[in-house]
Amino acid sequence: MTPDLPPPFGIAWFRFALGFAVGAVLGSFGTMLAYRVPRRLSIVWPGSHCPSCRTPLTIADLVPLLSFIAHRGKCAHCGARIGMRYFYIELACAVAGGIIALIARP
Ligand SMILES: [Zn+2]
Repeated sequence: MTPDLPPPFGIAWFRFALGFAVGAVLGSFGTMLAYRVPRRLSIVWPGSHCPSCRTPLTIADLVPLLSFIAHRGKCAHCGARIGMRYFYIELACAVAGGIIALIARP
């Protein structure tokens, strides 16, 4: 079932937005793997936290791209800088997800 929205919010935008969101989440997961796996850290426990102050991240801190923008690239708790590479990787994966969702055929 697909939404029947008027232009410019038709099905193409819906597919792109959905693919963008899924891509951003996968990109965020990928950055977590890239950080933890080489350090031989568990990918399950502890949950997402600031590597500087070790404060567990809240749901609001875990929204890909938006939380980075909202906190201006810093930890919301201790103010430690978060590398721009995390933002760029999430953005690249989000755009790729949006494009794939647009061109993929069910
Ligand atoms: Zn912190």
